[in-house]
Amino acid sequence: MKKHVLISGAGPVGLVSALKLSQAGFKVTVFESSSGLNMDLRASTFHPPTLDMLAPFGLTDQLIPMGLIARYTQQRDRHEGVVAEFDMELLKGDTNYPFRLQCEQWKLTQLIKKQLDQNPDVEVVFEAKVESVAQSPDEVSLEVKVHGDLKAYKGDYLIGADGAWSAVRTSLGIEFEGFTYPERFLVISTLFPYENHLPHLSYVNYCSDPVEWCVLLKVPALWRVLFPTRPQESDEEVLQDDSVESRLQHLLPQDTPYKSEHRTLYKVHQKVAKQFRKGRVFLAGDSAHINNPLGGMGMNGGVHDAINLCDKLIDVVNHNKESTLLDRYERQRRTIAIEYINANTARNKKMLEERDLQVRAQSQRELKAIASNPVKAKEYLRKTSMLDALERAESIQ
Ligand SMILES: Cc1cc2nc3c(=O)[nH]c(=O)nc-3n(C[C@H](O)[C@H](O)[C@H](O)COP(=O)(O)OP(=O)(O)OC[C@H]3O[C@@H](n4cnc5c(N)ncnc54)[C@H](O)[C@@H]3O)c2cc1C
Repeated sequence: MKKHVLISGAGPVGLVSALKLSQAGFKVTVFESSSGLNMDLRASTFHPPTLDMLAPFGLTDQLIPMGLIARYTQQRDRHEGVVAEFDMELLKGDTNYPFRLQCEQWKLTQLIKKQLDQNPDVEVVFEAKVESVAQSPDEVSLEVKVHGDLKAYKGDYLIGADGAWSAVRTSLGIEFEGFTYPERFLVISTLFPYENHLPHLSYVNYCSDPVEWCVLLKVPALWRVLFPTRPQESDEEVLQDDSVESRLQHLLPQDTPYKSEHRTLYKVHQKVAKQFRKGRVFLAGDSAHINNPLGGMGMNGGVHDAINLCDKLIDVVNHNKESTLLDRYERQRRTIAIEYINANTARNKKMLEERDLQVRAQSQRELKAIASNPVKAKEYLRKTSMLDALERAESIQ
């Protein structure tokens, strides 16, 4: 009989897992608390190794025309302009996709859902909120509120891909260790063509500033501008038209007011679950680790978790590998979440917001030196594009 995997959450991590496992002959049921797939503007960068991983499913070929190929990324000074530009083509040979793909994460989940709908062994249940988890040595049991009624489900394994507030993690009593930044992040999306006003702008621009750093990211239809907010500002104040306008005018003064298409304000945390595996239950993606978005490692790291975990489940179930192999998932991916994803995103934030002028000048000199040396630039790009993290994970037994 086919092994049955239950998945809590139909975000990118839950759906990549569902696709991988269903193609390997598993029966899969995905529970999603919302009434449909999330269409919010969240992650918008696919790193090269993620594109490599999604390629066997035909997803990369489908995503590329839906996004923008960002060959260059820039570190800028908000007032001085470009500090260092990195050419991702240096990664040729290490990946089939030596660029960042600027593309909204909802496009990925929609494409996967279409494929899942073709497979009779997969069921995606919407308005199905996982409430609690129990397990025996042989199976996992779930209580799920489906359209308001509590129902019981059983399966062989469970993947908790239910995001930062994971009910699976909470139900298992797994601690989520880390901290929350005092400031929130505001993302304003606008049709304003920054590329026509800021010289040499790339599609991915990290702009440091001792007063208010920002990130300028292009997705096909819009520019997304990310600002930190001051801890003392209330949500209402931050989201008011005047305050949004003033932030945009301060970045680039214009005679006419800006028009924003979306505004998102969210709290930012650096947290890692104490365990990624408990018996037959696994945490992956945001339920296992969350981080600031500076570097675009949340969704990408989550997809890397999903592929790593599902490869091991397939090895254990289809190729009779020892079930202890599943512990390696935690050893590999928890280490990466701590040493790599959280460490690098925290470092990126520190560099962008640095107030000490000497430290700022020194780090700008270092970035320039790295960018002008192809060997060092390639090392830098392997780190920022997460290729190094995957190599490090492979080295962990
Ligand atoms: C507001 C916001 C903005 C973000 N912006 C950026 C960004 O700009 N750049 C960036 O790199 N990253 C960003 N991220 C992070 C990125 O979106 C995540 O890393 C990524 O979505 C992780 O995917 P996931 O599948 O693990 O979790 P999610 O995408 O959160 O998916 C989890 C799913 O589980 C569902 N769910 C939750 N609880 C239950 C339950 N009890 N039962 C069933 N289903 C449940 C949710 O509805 C959701 O669909 C942002 C995240 C948020 C929340």
